Amino acid sequence: MFEQLPVPYGLVRYGVAPDHPEVKKSSETLVDVAKYPHFNFAGNISIGVGAGSLPLPVIAQNYDAILFAYGASRDRKLGIPGEDLEGVVSARAFVGWYNGLPEYADLDPDLTKGDTAVVIGQGNVALDVTRILLAPLEELGRTDISEQAVEVLSKSKVKNVKVIGRRGPLQAPYTIKEIRELMHLPGVGFAPPPESWDELIGVERKRLPRQLRRIAELLEKGSKTTLEATEKAWQLGYLRSPAAFLSSTNWDLEAVGFEQTEYEVAPSSVVTGDPSADLNALRKLKVRSTGKKGLVRTSLAFRSVGYQSEPLDGMKDIGVPFDQALGVIPNDRWGRVLSPGQGPAGALTAGHVPGMYCAGWVKRGPTGVIASTMDDAFTTADIISKDWQEGVKFARTETEGDSKGGWETIAREMKERSLRPVSWQGWEKIDALERARGKEKGKEREKIRSVAEMLKVLDG
Ligand SMILES: Cc1cc2nc3c(=O)[nH]c(=O)nc-3n(C[C@H](O)[C@H](O)[C@H](O)COP(=O)(O)OP(=O)(O)OC[C@H]3O[C@@H](n4cnc5c(N)ncnc54)[C@H](O)[C@@H]3O)c2cc1C
Repeated sequence: MFEQLPVPYGLVRYGVAPDHPEVKKSSETLVDVAKYPHFNFAGNISIGVGAGSLPLPVIAQNYDAILFAYGASRDRKLGIPGEDLEGVVSARAFVGWYNGLPEYADLDPDLTKGDTAVVIGQGNVALDVTRILLAPLEELGRTDISEQAVEVLSKSKVKNVKVIGRRGPLQAPYTIKEIRELMHLPGVGFAPPPESWDELIGVERKRLPRQLRRIAELLEKGSKTTLEATEKAWQLGYLRSPAAFLSSTNWDLEAVGFEQTEYEVAPSSVVTGDPSADLNALRKLKVRSTGKKGLVRTSLAFRSVGYQSEPLDGMKDIGVPFDQALGVIPNDRWGRVLSPGQGPAGALTAGHVPGMYCAGWVKRGPTGVIASTMDDAFTTADIISKDWQEGVKFARTETEGDSKGGWETIAREMKERSLRPVSWQGWEKIDALERARGKEKGKEREKIRSVAEMLKVLDG
């Protein structure tokens, strides 16, 4: 297993919110896998080109199969004016920062300029950002959140968070669990949207499929904490498409401009009484711009409109395609990589690239929780072993015979290239130190936020 950071776990460590420790338990599966005698972890090894990287063709020459599970490490941009203004923060960067991701260790967001923050996007990441901005720090401080984040949050002036999306309450990608958590957040009220729920939902509640009825009921019920009883609140704003980040100085954000949207067809017109068809039709309801404009004054806005995968350098050289439009490695949904160049772009092709497989967000696109990602990974693993047992052609060709060297050759290659792989035992040493530092501060763990410091731990 090759990982670009010295430490394992990807988004389980650096994405999942610190107040979701139960979700992080999924990492125990890898702890069990790491006990297998033939498992090798090579942290601090980026697969690609450039200094400190191991080229993909070198790996391909040495193994029968490669499984691509490198996730989605870019965030999607909105592509609207003003996106680079001071005060417009990427949710990925903010999440990485509070989770101690080395890449964003120095983000240091200014949360003291005003009392209102806008979050653009209504997925679970947007709700994580909202919760972290508003949650009481006593509990948060005991998790594995970075201590720098706690310090910045303790000085935060943000009291109102507006979470704004293009579509309506039943089309937003958030899940019930995350909305419920925010509704139960101590000391934080829920401000309903300016429009009535009837207007926004557009369907009689009893005609809604069960899953959507539950969302509607939860939203209408609101939070236990009333707005009068607290000075902190969050609000959902619907049917508003971000149009521009505005600033009179061209430097600091002053407002977010929106265009109002409306449903292309009345929501009630797609309801037939068949729950699964209705669920599908209501979830997919499209919106169009009304041309009406509005703005929210704020000096702080988070864009949270999704993550994106990219091809790895060297993939083309080993015959592995990448679908730029969908942002995935084309696959047969079991995880076998499909051969490029057969059939029209985007269409499924019949052939597989021998020995090449994919799993996770780079296979399905950047949606889905850990449970579905794990299921999907198990499917790919099963298919690899099935292919192996059935004698399907793998990356190793007959003429090459046993010349593929596997781990020993790769270990030698890394040495020759002056790369410094971190072994599983190395990670365990970092892990132990992080836990010990956390214990001293009465928290779960204190993550080391710099790669250089992680490597220094291993020197000692
Ligand atoms: C902010 C956020 C919060 C989330 N919260 C939850 C939650 O509360 N509950 C839940 O169930 N799910 C949650 N998820 C979803 C969950 O994190 C994903 O479903 C899951 O992590 C995807 O797994 P993956 O293996 O595809 O990608 P990742 O977890 O991203 O793993 C990919 C790994 O590949 C490495 N990598 C990338 N490029 C290279 C390279 N060139 N060379 C070597 N290594 C490389 C990365 O460093 C990373 O470690 C959340 C996601 C996000 C973004």
